Amino acid sequence: MMGNPAGPVAHVPARDVLYRRLEASDREHEHLWVMTAAWRVSDPQTYATGRAPVLLDGESLVMVSGPGCFKCEQPWTRKRAAQPCPVGWL
Ligand SMILES: [Zn+2]
Repeated sequence: MMGNPAGPVAHVPARDVLYRRLEASDREHEHLWVMTAAWRVSDPQTYATGRAPVLLDGESLVMVSGPGCFKCEQPWTRKRAAQPCPVGWL
């Protein structure tokens, strides 16, 4: 995902689409490594009511964290990555 760092990053897909992607990524006892990011939102009511698409841009990005496992909620380490995830399935 390259391009203008101040330009649009992505439009957020519908919640059910994201959930299906998450389910499709799940494997029994495999860590599900993710990164999380946070964007400052200048008009939360507009986004919360779905009146405008959420536009995630580089200027509003305020935090990136991870990688960590979505399932067991532990940070990535070389040792942890070599071991099975203690959580079987989501
Ligand atoms: Zn895990």
